[in-house]
Formats: sequence, structure tokens, C-alpha cells
Amino acid sequence: METKLSKEKLEYFKKKLEDRKKELEKALTYVARKNPANPEDWETVEPDMNVMVSDKNELADIFEELENRAAIGDKLEERLNLVKDALERIEKKTYGVCETEGEMIDEKRLEVFPSAKNCIKHAKKYK
Ligand SMILES: [Zn+2]
Repeated sequence: METKLSKEKLEYFKKKLEDRKKELEKALTYVARKNPANPEDWETVEPDMNVMVSDKNELADIFEELENRAAIGDKLEERLNLVKDALERIEKKTYGVCETEGEMIDEKRLEVFPSAKNCIKHAKKYK
């Protein structure tokens, strides 16, 4: 199913996703380092809580919600993978298409959750 989003919109969401990707990778460096044997994998390290607390961005909720740094690392990695998947869908021109039934995801939803794979109706398991 091909996306119905305009080229401009795709560029817009691509930029948004790339910013999110950088942010997540930066946040991951506080709690984990890349596994030298497998650069796609991250290993948990002692986090610098001071840096994390002073880094006031939308990831603050993750840090607040999860005390365990391994859990934080997993959560960040999970989000990072969602963002990478979304960037791939932009390349394949399937971005914004609900993977359940192939209808377009509401743009307002993509605005708040640019890595969404499903429309709101089909999104229960992704929150
Ligand atoms: Zn759907």
C-alpha cells in the first residue's frame, strides 16, 4: 500500500524522525554503549544521572518512569527501532499507512507519534 502523503509531508516527517533518532541515540549514550561486536545492539552502562536530569526534553518521562537503567536502555532502544522502521517506510513510500488494514493514519496522530505503524483504531498494542 503506497502512502497518500505528499512529498513535502514525507520530507517533514523524515526531518522529525531524524531529529528524534538523534535525540534517542544521545539519550542512549547516557545509559548504554554500543556493543563493539554488534553495532546494532546497545549494552547498559552506569548512567550519568546529572546529565540526564538536566537534559529536559520529551524523553524525561522515560527517565522518570523507569528507575532501572537497563529498563531505560531497553525502552530507548525500542523507540529507536520504531523510529528507524518509520524512516525505512519513508524510503519505501509506505510511511503513514496503517499496517493492519492499509488505510492512512491520521496526520494529527503522526504529528505526536511519528513512528506510528497503526492508526488509532488498530494501535492498542502500541499504546
Ligand atoms: Zn488501521
